[in-house]
Amino acid sequence: MEHPENNKEYKGLQVNEGVKSQPSVNPYRQPRKKKPELSAAEYVEGIRKGDISILGRAVTLVESVADKHQALAQEVIEKCLPYSGNSRRIGITGVPGAGKSTSIDVFGLHVLRQGGKLAVLAIDPSSERTSGSILGDKTRMEKLSLHPEAFIRPSPSAGSLGGVARKTRETIVLCEAAGYDNIFVETVGVGQSETAVHSMVDFFLLIQLAGTGDELQGIKRGIMEMADGIVINKADGDNIDRANLAAAQFRNALHLFPPTPSKWVPEVVTYSGYYELNIDKVWDMIDRYFKYVKETGYFERKRNEQAKYWMFETINEQLRADFYRRPEIRALLEQKEIRVLNNEQSSFTAAHDVLDQYFRMLRAE
Ligand code: GDP
Repeated sequence: MEHPENNKEYKGLQVNEGVKSQPSVNPYRQPRKKKPELSAAEYVEGIRKGDISILGRAVTLVESVADKHQALAQEVIEKCLPYSGNSRRIGITGVPGAGKSTSIDVFGLHVLRQGGKLAVLAIDPSSERTSGSILGDKTRMEKLSLHPEAFIRPSPSAGSLGGVARKTRETIVLCEAAGYDNIFVETVGVGQSETAVHSMVDFFLLIQLAGTGDELQGIKRGIMEMADGIVINKADGDNIDRANLAAAQFRNALHLFPPTPSKWVPEVVTYSGYYELNIDKVWDMIDRYFKYVKETGYFERKRNEQAKYWMFETINEQLRADFYRRPEIRALLEQKEIRVLNNEQSSFTAAHDVLDQYFRMLRAE
């Protein structure tokens, strides 16, 4: 077909007459009643009772960037801490299309059949909340979202990975205080977010696919090293043989890795999330892992390590935020950047100058 621009009638860019803009406010809408603000004690009481609506509001508070909300959120978290820790925290990662949502839906129901409650959280620093979030969206986990004992929460809205991850980590505390004894933390297996998830979960599950030919090439070695279990999804129909072959390849590759700190040997299982095949095998593996690490004491050790990690992470993040928030620092950085690019100053002395300025400002406060 001929390109429209080659048509003789074509006049280039056209400007159509606009329409009169409609009033932006719906005149029939009742003003929404603002929910009364809760005190920290009321939040904690609601959370402890397992009130999903209050839990949801507390998570929103945690995610808020307003100083006022943050202060209250921190108080709620502190008060919930004594009731936290009693859950199995499971990280789930895989590239888009690996079948995370499908799998979490069936894994979740499988877990809930054994009793208890399940929270599904997500870390996706790239997601924009506006057009419906990408991860953790209720519509992606249809069956689970209807289950009364499941709490599904999308990723905190886009921000620095450290910030998004910290909020999820804090949300875990709230969920545990609300009695959720299984927590899934989902992330897209394409970036740095796996490391963040790994640092807040007890078990890290990597969902893989077979049949792409070069199974092991696309996966970053680092992610495989973090995995406590690798599961090959879509082992159904014609794909079963390929999935088994991929499983064998993964097992071989895992042999070449140094032993994990827990001395647990990561297992490889094939399953089908969509057709619900071998789901119990995947969960038997996870149950075995928890039994093992609780016996060896690794479970506690890792949790302690993680608590320490998050203290330092939080310090680093807050320092960085405070530094870059200051207009004087930003202006100075812009000048220094030009000088460094023009070879008028070395990167190191420029950095020192900016830091000096920062410390002087702190002292003057
Ligand atoms: P996510 O992007 O990792 O969350 O992946 P989804 O759960 O959205 O799944 C991506 C696509 O793979 C969807 O079309 C699913 O229906 C399909 N899928 C997921 N699990 C299976 C499975 O076990 N077998 C088959 N054949 N397809 C699956």
